[in-house]
Amino acid sequence: MNTDLHQIEVRGIPIEIVRKDIKNLHLGVYPPNGRVRAAVPLRLDDEAVRLAVVARLGWIRRQQERFAAQVRQSQREMVSGESHYVQGQRYRLHVIEQDGPPSVGVRNRTTLELRVRPGSDREQREAVLYAWYRRQLRAQIPPLLAKWQPILGVNVVDWRIKKMKTRWGSCTIEARRIWLNLELAKKPPACLEYILVHEMIHLLERHHNERFQTLMERFLPNWQMARDVLNRAPLAHEDWGY
Ligand SMILES: [Zn+2]
Repeated sequence: MNTDLHQIEVRGIPIEIVRKDIKNLHLGVYPPNGRVRAAVPLRLDDEAVRLAVVARLGWIRRQQERFAAQVRQSQREMVSGESHYVQGQRYRLHVIEQDGPPSVGVRNRTTLELRVRPGSDREQREAVLYAWYRRQLRAQIPPLLAKWQPILGVNVVDWRIKKMKTRWGSCTIEARRIWLNLELAKKPPACLEYILVHEMIHLLERHHNERFQTLMERFLPNWQMARDVLNRAPLAHEDWGY
């Protein structure tokens, strides 16, 4: 697929332009930072993009404010009563201060119990919870790999979990290594599966081109549902605009 990518600025807003063999100009605003991207038919020039952006400036700013609000909302104080998510389910946090090793556990399908030492601060509580999230996510991945490696006919040599600000996952194709965002521990299992399959398909096709889309449709026809759930969250895959 023949594409050309560059950037212009309109009223102080950077606009990524991708020229493609398409009929209509399409503007999108994407999380987490409200990045604006224009998919532009080959026949239209940058001036046409500028006019389209100016005409939709109000909408673009509203979208960007919405993403900024989501990012603010994701800050947690780590106190009892807050909502926290585990594999797509919402739980009420219950913090118990006690001497002894810190721990996390799910109680009654409604409560996330966090046991910490007396006087622990926000960062210490968060560290305990995230270590637990990491263990949960680490346990979810091997069965998914065992399922998908034979289906896709690819071999993942190594996979790792890390905190990432702008992506749900990535793939180092040469090393056959997949990186998964720790935040996926909070998302429904179907979202984790979608990201993992997306990254595994990169072992068959490096680019997000038509072949990639075809493979995605063939192996995971419902992928767009998982994508939409993740798109509502304050993080995004690097390049999954459409
Ligand atoms: Zn990708």
